[in-house]
Amino acid sequence: MYDNTKNVPYYLFGKNSINQLGEIIERKFTGLSVCKLFILDCFFKGHAIIEKLPVEGEDICLFVDTKDEPKTDDIDAYVDKIQNEAHEKPECIIGIGGGSALDVAKAVSNRLNNPGRTEDYQGWDLVKNRGVYKIGIPTLSGTGAEVSRTCVLTNPAKNMKLGMNSDYSLFDQIILDPVLTESVSPEQYFYTGMDTYMHCFETLRGRYRNVIVDSLAEKAISLTKEVFLSGDMMSEDNREKMMIASYIGGTAAGNVGLVHPVSAGLSIVLGLHHGIANCYALEALEAYYPEEFAEYQEMKRHNCISLQKGVCSSLTDSDVDRMFNSIIIHGKPLKNALGENYREMLTKDELTRLLERM
Ligand code: NAD
Ligand code: ZN
Repeated sequence: MYDNTKNVPYYLFGKNSINQLGEIIERKFTGLSVCKLFILDCFFKGHAIIEKLPVEGEDICLFVDTKDEPKTDDIDAYVDKIQNEAHEKPECIIGIGGGSALDVAKAVSNRLNNPGRTEDYQGWDLVKNRGVYKIGIPTLSGTGAEVSRTCVLTNPAKNMKLGMNSDYSLFDQIILDPVLTESVSPEQYFYTGMDTYMHCFETLRGRYRNVIVDSLAEKAISLTKEVFLSGDMMSEDNREKMMIASYIGGTAAGNVGLVHPVSAGLSIVLGLHHGIANCYALEALEAYYPEEFAEYQEMKRHNCISLQKGVCSSLTDSDVDRMFNSIIIHGKPLKNALGENYREMLTKDELTRLLERM
C-alpha cells in the first residue's frame, strides 16, 4: 500500500511577505467579515510585528507562553477561553511563532471543530472534522511544523509526547518571511535548525524509504550543512536558506529514527525543548549514526555551540524507568531505525549507557 500524501496547498515565500497577510485573508473570505484568532508566541507581545497584522474589530490575540512545550491541557484551556470569551467563533486562525506556537494554532483549530478533550485526538487520524481555516507563519526555522500533518503535544498524565497526526492538522496557507527569524538567539537558531538535519538523516538512514521523501531529505540536509558550515549561520541569506530547508525537510517528514524517541523521553522527564533534546540525544548515538554524529560535531564547533555535559547525571531509577517507557512506545520510528527486534536492542541498560554519554 502506498501512502496518499497531502501537502500544504498554498505558500508564500519572501522577505516581508507577512505584509500580504491581510490581502490573503481578504481574498479567501471575499465580502465576508470573519472573526480572526491570532495565536502568537509570547515573544511577540508588544513587538513591532503586531502593527503589521490585520487585527480589527472583535479579532482575538492569544499570546502563548512557550517556556514549556505545549501540553494537551493547555490546548483544552485555550479552547475553553475562546469559547467562553469570544463574541463569535473564529473562522480564521493565524499562528505566528516557532514549532510550539504553530502547533498550538493547529491543535486549537482542530479542537474548535471537534468536541471532547485534546488528548482524545493524540494519535493517527483520530480528528473527525476539518478544523478552522488556518494560516501558519513561522518565526523560527527547523521543525517543519509549518508544513507537517501533525501538532506535537505533551501529555504528562499519560507520560506521552505525541501529535494529532491528521490531514486536518495541515495549515491551509503558510507565509514564509525570513525577516521574522532575525531576533532568534544563536543557540535556539542552531538547536531548531538541527531538527531539520535530524529529521532528514533519520529518514535516510531508516528502513522504510520513499524516493520522493529521500530526494527532499537530501536537499534539506545539503541546505542545512551550507547554513551551519558557512561564515555566519544567521546572515540574511542563511536565514532565508534555513527557512527553505525547514520547508523542504518538513515536507519530506518521513519516518524518523532513534534520535526523536530518545529526544521525546528527554523532553518528558527533563522538560528539555525539542531542538536541544535532539542534540543531547545525538551526543549519545555515535555508535548508531557515526557519520552524522561527526558532521553534527563539526557544525556545533563551527558555530561555537556547546552543550553542558551531565544533563542526566542526577536522574533517579524511577526517572530512567519513566524515560524508558516514554521512549519505547515510539514503535514506528524505532522499528524504522533498529528493525523489528528493537526491544532487544534498546533495553533499559542500553538507555542507561546512552544517558551517561549526555
Ligand atoms: P519553540 O517554538 O519552542 O520556541 C523556542 C524559543 O524561541 C521560545 O522561547 C520562543 O519564544 C523563541 N522564539 C521563537 N521565534 C522567535 C523569534 N523570531 N525571535 C526570538 N525568539 C523566538 O521552538 P521550536 O524548536 O521551533 O519548536 C519546538 C516545538 O515544535 C516542540 O514542541 C516540538 O515538539 C514541536 N515540533 C513540531 C513538529 C511538527 O511537525 N508539528 C516537528 C518538530 C517539532
Ligand atoms: Zn523534530
